[in-house]
Amino acid sequence: MTKLEQVGFIEKPVPQPGPNDAVIKTTRALICTSDSHTLHGAIGPRENLTLGHEAVGIVHQVGSEVRLFRPGDRVVVGAITPDWGDLASQAGHSSQSNGALGGWKFANIKDGVFAEYFHVNDADANMAMIPDAVADDSAVYCCDMMSTGFMAAENGDIPIGGLVAVFALGPVGLMAVAGAKLRGAGVVIGIDSEPARQHLAREYGADLIIDFTKQDPVTEILKITKGEGVDAAIEALGSNDSFQNAIKVTKPGGVISNAGYHGKGEFVTIPRVEWGVGMAEKTIRTGLCPGGRLRMERLLRVLESNRVDPTRMTTHRFPFDQIDKAFELMDKKRDGIIKPLITF
Ligand SMILES: [Zn+2]
Repeated sequence: MTKLEQVGFIEKPVPQPGPNDAVIKTTRALICTSDSHTLHGAIGPRENLTLGHEAVGIVHQVGSEVRLFRPGDRVVVGAITPDWGDLASQAGHSSQSNGALGGWKFANIKDGVFAEYFHVNDADANMAMIPDAVADDSAVYCCDMMSTGFMAAENGDIPIGGLVAVFALGPVGLMAVAGAKLRGAGVVIGIDSEPARQHLAREYGADLIIDFTKQDPVTEILKITKGEGVDAAIEALGSNDSFQNAIKVTKPGGVISNAGYHGKGEFVTIPRVEWGVGMAEKTIRTGLCPGGRLRMERLLRVLESNRVDPTRMTTHRFPFDQIDKAFELMDKKRDGIIKPLITF
């Protein structure tokens, strides 16, 4: 990102690791919608910032204090790389270390991963070894899409056999569907209008799909659940409308689990009556993609045991020297794109 609304290639020196850090030689990366949000100014102006936060690679160099990794190791790095000594991390909120969203460093407060080499802080805690049975093309989904999508399901406290609605079936929504299924949901309802996404959602475990351009999702979900509402409504878009719908379809005592990036507007609004005028015990939970070695190792286990195949979401592939084209496509959401994989 050379400046707001503009991407291009820049020569930069290979980063150097501090004592606890690592430098990774990138092998695979994925472009994320939040990279587009950054480009359009959602986190303020940035200049000559390397974008990207989803990548795997080979350890190139480690600092003197790194114990678990050596050059040549094949690793996944979480999109969020917390400071594990921070009090927020000690309290179990590592993504919020050093202040709200402070675990989000790549392409925010330091250079991201769309480069031949990138820097990782707290390497022992923020990287995980990729098992031989897991390919880079698959492991790269652990960084953000699986971690965030599964988080949305985990935050939903889905009971076995419970009713779940997932608003928007982009890659995070699709992984939330897969996560809801893994958590034992009885019925998963997906809401999206794109046929390709609807199809993938069914493959990942959605039982019913609502096309919001043809039917009102609130009316339909209440009909499907016999007026009861769902145990968990997952918002995976970052839209005020779907956030409100999520509140409307959640039963009293249920959870609205927000994974969407609300990148626009001054306020996110709560529908007063359907929120039970503040007393219906509807919990709103938010979260930012959890990172860390333990998390990444768990996600890799899901891949190693073939519980989920995220590579079905890879609709396009580009070599690194054409990443600008991939970016354009992702930004405009053209050509049925879900995730573009960048190869190095
Ligand atoms: Zn991402």
